Amino acid sequence: MISVEEALEKILSYFRELETEEKPILESLGQVLAQDIHSTIDVPPADNSAMDGYAVRAADTKGASATSPKVLDVIGEVAAGSLADQPVGPGKAVRIMTGAPVPPGADTVVPFEDTDETASSEEKRAFPFRVGIMKETPEDCNIRRAGEDVPRGARVLEKGTEIRPSHVGVLASLGYRTAPVMRRPRVAVLATGNELADISEPLKSGQLYNSNTYSISAQVIDCGAVPRALGIARDQVSDLTEKVRKGLDTDLLITSGGVSRGDYDMVKDVLVQQGEITFWTVRMKPGKPLAFGVFKTASGRRVPHLGLPGNPVSAMITFELFARPAIFKMMGKKNWSRPIVKGVLEDSLSNRDGRRVYARVYVERRDGKYIARLTGPQGSGILTSMAQANGLAIISEEVTQVRPGDQVPLMLLD
Ligand code: AMP
Ligand code: MG
Repeated sequence: MISVEEALEKILSYFRELETEEKPILESLGQVLAQDIHSTIDVPPADNSAMDGYAVRAADTKGASATSPKVLDVIGEVAAGSLADQPVGPGKAVRIMTGAPVPPGADTVVPFEDTDETASSEEKRAFPFRVGIMKETPEDCNIRRAGEDVPRGARVLEKGTEIRPSHVGVLASLGYRTAPVMRRPRVAVLATGNELADISEPLKSGQLYNSNTYSISAQVIDCGAVPRALGIARDQVSDLTEKVRKGLDTDLLITSGGVSRGDYDMVKDVLVQQGEITFWTVRMKPGKPLAFGVFKTASGRRVPHLGLPGNPVSAMITFELFARPAIFKMMGKKNWSRPIVKGVLEDSLSNRDGRRVYARVYVERRDGKYIARLTGPQGSGILTSMAQANGLAIISEEVTQVRPGDQVPLMLLD
């Protein structure tokens, strides 16, 4: 048996970052930048007013106060999205709205509240009119300078950044319609088992619904990759071989089931015929049997294959521990480990066979502490207890018994 860490290290050695593609910025959400992003413009593009008020020359406000206002001629008005039609000369002012470009000649903005204009006065003004400035205002007040957020030429986002909504916004603010990102991996998902029915069919006796294709495909999407469901392969070499071939134009093939020691566990036989296989028992629970190999296509392409166990919970947890990091590596994401915190387990758990246990738990924060309780029976077929879980309690190989109140590491899944 090998440890989880050994298995992960071996698996990751087969994966590289994928090629770069240009993606419309919104579709690039969750992908990783393949190049630095520089700005070709100043943001904001021009000096503009941060307040509603009057654009003036600071020198003209010298000595102004509420008792002796400085009176200026208001020669026009400028709103956001328009340009002032005349410069501001000595003794002049232009009425200005927030976001409007500061007219040439003006070097400061006096807000309405520091003038004798009441902001509520709505009546149409005929220019020129006069305004009293009631406060001495130094240069550069209430002006957002061109390039204050981003100067032209600056490196704004770094290669390797995972694109979040704020990055999409920054890209748009720079006028980028597309972004260079590492391609999303395509992942083929194949369920195996004579007992499986697809959800589009009525269930016959002796059958159960194929849930793995759906849970695994959803995990693939959750990672930012693109799943391709290959359906259900029966436990025969011919059917398995045929279905596997349909998935060989992808970056990763995931199968579920057929990797135990039973007579009908054919996945390893097919792997042996079609490529290389490393077949492991990993020291973990659930999820002991795990196959990893590489399929070779007729054209010589090599497609990594991860053979997950068939039990629905084992399949999801082994995906979480092995497939997710592999997908993240292909996408250029650096941080593929989930947060692990110390917390108190409220239930007891025994661990008799020296494997690492990943127990389904619901984690809460109470009084600044993480508290976890089991979500139900821990059988590896009980998918509902996975659905109620937002974390996994990790019980290490050498711990044989956890008692209520013991501290354990908790992997947070949300
Ligand atoms: P296997 O690893 O093929 O022996 O599968 C172990 C058990 O997992 C089977 O007995 C099924 O009950 C269950 N199982 C296998 N594949 C699936 C699947 N795609 N969806 C739901 N359950 C499955
Ligand atoms: Mg099976």
